[in-house]
Amino acid sequence: MRRGSSGGEPAAGREADVGAVARAAAPAERVGVDAGVDAGAAGEPEREAPEEPRAERARGRPRVAEEGDAPGVPRPPPPAPRAQPQPARARGLRLHREPPGKGRGCRRSSGSPADEVCSPRPVTVDSSKARTSLDALKISIRQLRWKEFPFGRRLPCDIYWHGVSFHDNDIFSGQVNKFPGMTEMVRKITLSRAVRIMQNLFPEEYNFYPRSWILPDEFQLFVAQVRMVKDGDPSWKPTFIVKPDGGCQGDGIYLIKDPSDIRLAGTLQSRPAVVQEYICKPLLIDKLKFDIRLYVLLKSLDPLEIYIAKDGLSRFCTEPYQEPSPKNLHHVFMHLTNYSLNIHSGNFVHSDSTSTGSKRTFSSILCRLSSKGVDIKKVWSDIISLVIKTVIALTPELKVFYQSDIPAGRPGPTCFQILGFDILLMKNLKPILLEVNANPSMRIEHEQELSPGVFENVPSLVDEEVKVAVIRDTLRLMDPLKNKREKQNCKLSSSSLSMAAVDILYIDITRRWNSMTLDQRDSGMCLQAFVEAFFYLAQRKFKMLPLHEQVASLIDLCEYHLSLLDERRLVCGRSSTAGVRPPGRSTPQGATPSAQQVEGHPPCCTNSAHKSSRPRHALS
Ligand code: ADP
Repeated sequence: MRRGSSGGEPAAGREADVGAVARAAAPAERVGVDAGVDAGAAGEPEREAPEEPRAERARGRPRVAEEGDAPGVPRPPPPAPRAQPQPARARGLRLHREPPGKGRGCRRSSGSPADEVCSPRPVTVDSSKARTSLDALKISIRQLRWKEFPFGRRLPCDIYWHGVSFHDNDIFSGQVNKFPGMTEMVRKITLSRAVRIMQNLFPEEYNFYPRSWILPDEFQLFVAQVRMVKDGDPSWKPTFIVKPDGGCQGDGIYLIKDPSDIRLAGTLQSRPAVVQEYICKPLLIDKLKFDIRLYVLLKSLDPLEIYIAKDGLSRFCTEPYQEPSPKNLHHVFMHLTNYSLNIHSGNFVHSDSTSTGSKRTFSSILCRLSSKGVDIKKVWSDIISLVIKTVIALTPELKVFYQSDIPAGRPGPTCFQILGFDILLMKNLKPILLEVNANPSMRIEHEQELSPGVFENVPSLVDEEVKVAVIRDTLRLMDPLKNKREKQNCKLSSSSLSMAAVDILYIDITRRWNSMTLDQRDSGMCLQAFVEAFFYLAQRKFKMLPLHEQVASLIDLCEYHLSLLDERRLVCGRSSTAGVRPPGRSTPQGATPSAQQVEGHPPCCTNSAHKSSRPRHALS
């Protein structure tokens, strides 16, 4: 373990420069809450980059030529308009972490005919605008064996990875990792407004967000409401936190005990803010306050599809916590968990371990809580429902943005986005939403002071572990060729071998072997019949190879099918197992623990001993 550098002023946050835009909100859909949790990672949004000014956003603006581009050649429009929006629905949330090239895709690359069937063109990713997420993105693309275009490409790419906003350049097809309007929607004031609408409608469901007032508009209301409660309960000694709109990294945040302490002088008009009830009794670990950064993938708005990464980051304060008092209100290292602030504390602990230090994985926190008897399944499911409800609150206005930027029927990309949810656990383990970040930091390095005043960027293991998994699993979920690949490659039947022929084969071989065996109590295929049928199918499916390679190829194909089946079951919430392999191959080589997680279970509850109830001799 190493200690961080001491001294230094907190880094100044940068403001997003796009004002909140008032738009008519469509009615919120009511959607099923069915979120399992899996996959990879979470990070924190230490440094959210500012969005580009609106002037930069006109679609159709010629894209600045970059290295690798043919100058002056416009991007061709997509061949057909996008599909019309479908009715909204929510899906279960799950990402799997599997080793690259394992399970989901084709396994062999020996140049055999089997490979030819299993090797469509790689997915192409334009990373020219990835900015600070570039390192993690590159690793993810490499792991997936996809193709990166670091300087952009003359032809369209499948996926465009933007570091900041949807409006980085003109895109007419493919998928872009930002939704129009997201940055505006998650600004502190806009988020507070959106959640408040839902709080007014469903107060019980939306009690995970602290009571908030928007300044300067609601200053008088704030004063009046606080006075009213105090009059009714003189023992009430609240604390409030004032957060400038569009701020980040703790910039400009301060605590107050009374509305009269708000720094009105000249600042509020120029810098609107949210004032919010301060959560005085957070859960502490090692006597320190901490928060959770969870990564959430908004895969689609219509239908609403949300995925939650099953691991995240926990960012710790660096001064032991005390409940707020006039004496400690200004102690930022005690009250604010921002990494960008605490890194400047002499007490900041860099650690190579994911379960110690000032930044840890959330799963390590859950493990620790679990070992103390905490019901972490409940914690996790409360977090999932907080995330889903928050996204539901944002959805109506996001749809308005979406429809105005990418009108249906006109060429345009589809969108997805990774959001950073900042969550605080109260002492009673209730999760509280602090904020949502549209551009969570995907940096996988941190600054280290080598000698006084000399800094160097060094890899951060905890960031890499969490964030690379988030990006990689997001890419896999967005894989535009996945369906094609499944259709092309993964059918046991083919033009020369119909499913009807497979059925007849099954019946013939089963009947023959059953007539030969004495014990006919078991209906269905005996093992010998299964082996014979399997070899036959392998020979039909993978001609030209030696028998052992044919058999191995068919095993791979079956494994692939089964993992898809598992995945579908998990997504639909019908199965309680994941990552189960076919007979004789208990654990995929190099599989990460999370590949075997059980749906709905928190990240540290992996139980690799779970078995599938699937018949052992299923062929398709
Ligand atoms: P920023 O975008 O500047 O990071 P946040 O809303 O995330 O602003 O607040 C910064 C930090 O302040 C949080 O990480 C958390 O530690 C603390 N904080 C924010 N709101 C509250 C609250 N209502 N109660 C307790 N602590 C809070």
